[in-house]
Amino acid sequence: MEDMSGDSKHYIDETLCKGCGLCVDVCAAGIMQMSRRRNRKGYRLPAVSDPEKCRRCRMCEFCCPDMAIYVCPERQTAGGAVDNGPTPSDNANRPR
Ligand code: SF4
Ligand code: SF4
Repeated sequence: MEDMSGDSKHYIDETLCKGCGLCVDVCAAGIMQMSRRRNRKGYRLPAVSDPEKCRRCRMCEFCCPDMAIYVCPERQTAGGAVDNGPTPSDNANRPR
């Protein structure tokens, strides 16, 4: 999918985002912020300022009315390694 951005935990579909800022309002960690970047429609895009402080509560994902955010679930594998979950291409194929 085009216009995906984000760090290793968050994927933001820039084509879907309308810059409403709800994801910023609900982030209890205070790390989701509106950036200066804009998508092709001219809407300002959110960005995660400090991914290491993310609580993985997924509130930003659940509250986005346009389903523009996906937060990768972090899982421990049997060997103790961290599995960061689906890739952006997996996200592109998820049902909308
Ligand atoms: S809640 Fe969704 S549409 Fe609104 S700014 Fe955040 S990502 Fe964009
Ligand atoms: S998953 Fe939770 S803590 Fe992480 S950016 Fe989204 S709302 Fe903030």
